[in-house]
Amino acid sequence: IRYTEGRGWHDAQLTPYAPLEIDPANMTLHYGQAIFEGLKAYRQADGSIATFRPTANAERFQASARRLAMPELPTEAFVEAVELLVQQDQAWVPSEPEQSLYLRPFMFATEVGLGVRPANEYLFMIIASPAGAYFPGGVKPVSVWLSEEYVRAAPGGTGTAKCAGNYAASLVAQAQAAEKGCDQVVWLDAAEHRWIEEMGGMNLYFVFGEGKDARIVTPELSGALLPGITRDSLLTMAADLGYAVEERRISTDEWKQGNVDGTLTEVFACGTAAVITPVGSVKSARADWTVADGNPGPITMELRKTLLAVQGGQSPDTHGWLHTIV
Ligand code: PMP
Repeated sequence: IRYTEGRGWHDAQLTPYAPLEIDPANMTLHYGQAIFEGLKAYRQADGSIATFRPTANAERFQASARRLAMPELPTEAFVEAVELLVQQDQAWVPSEPEQSLYLRPFMFATEVGLGVRPANEYLFMIIASPAGAYFPGGVKPVSVWLSEEYVRAAPGGTGTAKCAGNYAASLVAQAQAAEKGCDQVVWLDAAEHRWIEEMGGMNLYFVFGEGKDARIVTPELSGALLPGITRDSLLTMAADLGYAVEERRISTDEWKQGNVDGTLTEVFACGTAAVITPVGSVKSARADWTVADGNPGPITMELRKTLLAVQGGQSPDTHGWLHTIV
């Protein structure tokens, strides 16, 4: 779907996948007005196909657009584009457990020019690709690197937007994590390098205590971290399962201390791509530690199973999160 200032959204098209031609002075290449979303189409237990909370993706896309001075695509147009593509590609939606058709909506400036200002022309597109299970051989805890040298985002910056630049800014820290033998980066706040924010493509959750007395904590929306749709769904889902849930600041010291005194029992990350991923070990410039015994915890696995069952249509969708397409 194209956007032209003064004319609005126009020329919606469903076309075969093909390269785009880019002018060397395309404004996105120079000034980075590029935003995206990520969501999945899941084959349901009854054979139908559904997406999970697509209006939440549409709304976050609008928030990202506002932050980057781009036009907002209306929710109905976003969801209709998702529906059309999934209908077209329904044969590509796998039936195996934990597999899906990954959808990548995105928008960028198409105007040509070198003046620094919001562009007047944009293109919104969605591409699709089948996605395998994140853990084909069974759930395996990830190791994380606490980045104290780089920050992903600062309050007032673009951290709450899903824009390309945030991911570009994260790549050196991700490479550093890999050098240290870690799978993922954990980002800390920009001012004190002390408060835990999120990972590269996932939000974080901390479990204190055990069984139904457990308290489940996730970093509050600081103005710099991405408001994940999985994070938001789990706040509700964990409360439904009877756990006490808190959104608040949590520091690296509390994480370390909780590990030493045994009150912190589980840590996991969550997002559309990885669903729920246990965090098994931590490295930083000052200390390394194992999270509890390093194995996936029972509450992590319970939440994972519960979420996958809703997304796959095996358990009732009590919150109306599924959007059936075919
Ligand atoms: N944080 C970042 C930086 C991300 O890229 C993502 C993936 N969109 C998430 C968190 C998780 O968000 P969601 O649950 O909506 O996939």
